[in-house]
Amino acid sequence: MSENTIIETLNPKNKFIFITGGVVSSLGKGLASASLASLLQSKGYKVRLRKLDPYLNVDPGTMSPYQHGEVYVTDDGTEADLDLGHYERFSGVPAKRTDSITTGKIYQRVIDKERRGDYLGATIQVIPHVTNEIQEFIYSDLSDEDFVLCEIGGTVGDIEGQPYLETIRQVAYDLGKERVMFLHVTLLPYIPTAGELKTKPTQHSVKHLQEYGIQPDMLLCRSQMPIPQNEKRKIALFCNIKEENVITAEDVKSIYQVPIAYSMEGMDKQVCKYFGLDCDQPTDLSKWQNIMKVISNPEGEVQIAVVGKYVQLLEAYKSLNEALVHGGIANHHKVKIKWIDAEDLENGNPSDYLSDVSAILVPGGFGSRGTDGKMIAIRYARENKLPFFGICFGMQLAVIETMRNVVGVKNAGTTEIHEGCEPVVGLMTEWDKEGAKQVRHKNGDLGGTMRLGAYEAVLKPESLVRQIYGTETISERHRHRYEVNMKYEKDLNSAGMFIAATSPDGKLPEIAEIRNHPWFVGVQFHPELKSKPFAPHPLFVSFVKAAIDKGRLL
Ligand code: GLN
Repeated sequence: MSENTIIETLNPKNKFIFITGGVVSSLGKGLASASLASLLQSKGYKVRLRKLDPYLNVDPGTMSPYQHGEVYVTDDGTEADLDLGHYERFSGVPAKRTDSITTGKIYQRVIDKERRGDYLGATIQVIPHVTNEIQEFIYSDLSDEDFVLCEIGGTVGDIEGQPYLETIRQVAYDLGKERVMFLHVTLLPYIPTAGELKTKPTQHSVKHLQEYGIQPDMLLCRSQMPIPQNEKRKIALFCNIKEENVITAEDVKSIYQVPIAYSMEGMDKQVCKYFGLDCDQPTDLSKWQNIMKVISNPEGEVQIAVVGKYVQLLEAYKSLNEALVHGGIANHHKVKIKWIDAEDLENGNPSDYLSDVSAILVPGGFGSRGTDGKMIAIRYARENKLPFFGICFGMQLAVIETMRNVVGVKNAGTTEIHEGCEPVVGLMTEWDKEGAKQVRHKNGDLGGTMRLGAYEAVLKPESLVRQIYGTETISERHRHRYEVNMKYEKDLNSAGMFIAATSPDGKLPEIAEIRNHPWFVGVQFHPELKSKPFAPHPLFVSFVKAAIDKGRLL
């Protein structure tokens, strides 16, 4: 398909902002994109956020959380980069399959087309075939958005990133600079011996972009301190950018302060000015300011343990961390998370680690490492009546723990890791999605084959979760391959554990609760993925409240 045909179908309102990163990785481009989007929303514009990841994996679903942090899951079942989580939390716009692309996906499409003969005998090349495919992605599934913000993963200079830079150059060429802005995020390192912020790496990074035919229109400079005006002037001159478009992104204490800080620096105003839009009207920052008020002056503090496997890399639990913060904000409390490596609990006394926490959360996970430690934490919470929240694998292990230690089935386990066990948690091979049967095979591909995305669940009238949600049915996001087998429901009931929610057909358990306990809830889904600072997830609000009520403080 010719790109021009796609361009003709675009809404003339659509303007594109491409966000690239330079100098080093981990500059917070995702947060920068999410913050800018939210500021533009506050000015009344409709936004969409997209991530273009140059790595060769089809999606991050099969990558270790140590490599790539959390895998974010959208309602429509896409396993995507964690930046999509920032986008959703800041803008409230639900991310979709069409908002996330990787080189793996692009090549998969190109090769499929080549095999089908769609290229009519042409030699397939990066330009135009790969770049056309990237363009198609950029233009796809849009309606009347004012701004489409597309973040390019990685750092300028990465070999995998080159086709993306070439593509966005072409987009600007085709649409004209009136509809396209290039925003480059860089770092100004501070050299203590010289007492100076250094601009050279930024200059080099911009030169690099210019080699690809991209002249940035705005620089967002990460810095530990305010950037003196003369340095801004120097950057502007050397990088061929308007001085007022050199924006300082000074380190701040909370990510929820970022939109406020950017707006104070004039970022949203300058973006509007660039596109010839009304830029003098002040941006309403009150929603962010209200949140910051609570974060800066909490009424109290509560410590909650998260017993997991990837606790050395907190990016692996990004949404979880945020959802707990949101639960804290809703209760006007600061949530202090005590990250505990599950394996540590396997050797030693659990109260050495858990006696100073008011609640315990066991998050999702895969594989055997740390499972015994997680089970020790669950038992501790159950026996000591500490609020407990089990998410996905955490829920499955909570059910196994009750089966083993209350029902007395000592070899109860999950077929994922416990060979020859009583299969309380087993491999699902079939389930229903929107009326269509989904079938999985034990030896099938690992990538993209889990029960993924939003599924409905029905809450039992007498359950705690029914009170918490205040609704009869819920829709939550899933990412799992195994499932608690309903045939153990009676045994669980006899031990005080109750299946509080199931899939609409009653076949798959979605939530397990222990009744004779102040707050013990295990959920098969990932509620953390839907929590937002302005709409904290009810389960996290209630869990944090239970922790505060427990009052077992530091
Ligand atoms: N490993 C478990 C499963 O596949 C749990 C997955 C998770 O916690 N996300 O069912």
